[in-house]
Amino acid sequence: MNKIARDRLVAEVARIVEEANIDLDGKAVACLKAALRNERNELAQGILAEIVENQEIARNERIPICQDTGVAVFFVELGNEVFLDFNLEAALNEAVATAYTKGYLRKSIVRHPLDRVNTKDNTPAVIHVRPVMGSTLRIRFAPKGAGSENMSAIAMLTPADGFAGIVRFVVDVVRRAGGKPCPPIVLGVGIGGTFEKAALIAKEALLRELDDEAMNPRDRELEQALYQAVNATNVGPMGLSGDTTCLAVKVNSYPCHIASLPVAVNIQCHAARHKEVIL
Ligand code: SF4
Repeated sequence: MNKIARDRLVAEVARIVEEANIDLDGKAVACLKAALRNERNELAQGILAEIVENQEIARNERIPICQDTGVAVFFVELGNEVFLDFNLEAALNEAVATAYTKGYLRKSIVRHPLDRVNTKDNTPAVIHVRPVMGSTLRIRFAPKGAGSENMSAIAMLTPADGFAGIVRFVVDVVRRAGGKPCPPIVLGVGIGGTFEKAALIAKEALLRELDDEAMNPRDRELEQALYQAVNATNVGPMGLSGDTTCLAVKVNSYPCHIASLPVAVNIQCHAARHKEVIL
């Protein structure tokens, strides 16, 4: 049995929360640099160069990559041989409050969608916990900015819409979003399940490595088709045209009802921030 102390968990999670906002993942940086090398549009090249420079400044000066330090989103895998004698949700929220306060990260959460009073410590986090076998606790964290989250969409397509219908819907979402999600974007696409499951796996897809491929061949084919179609839209970096509209497309799928084809598109901006810790 792996007994994890609350203090250790809070300290480790606070560390990755702060790091995620400052230090862009190496694979995201590599993708941005590759996009800069391949981009043919001069204006787009300039924007990509500034995005690359911006993340370098953030890392070197220990300041956030973006002013929008986001909603704190966690995906947790809780092993059956892990023993916690405390409330995990409360501990994760304490880590978020600590990191956002001590790290001077912008607090962006309001206590109710209609009264709009700021909670002043960026809590509560959005936490998804999945029970798994094993003796480890894996905690993945992503700060999700509103610019890209607001442009995300879901559709309940019909089975007859199929592959082509999914491509049409996703490309339409990207075109309508234009420059608002700060392209180049990463697309998390969830197909199947139910209304809420599609959205959840779309978000989880954004935590995959930027250079990986879906395991399932159909998902992989869809990733490639969407990548081509989205980059052919000419939306471009910051919506000002160019070859680079998306850095990557990640498709996660799940079994679904015979009469359903749910499709969720969770858009991530170029600040594709996430970190993880395994305890
Ligand atoms: S969409 Fe991303 S880069 Fe743009 S403001 Fe929001 S967090 Fe920052």
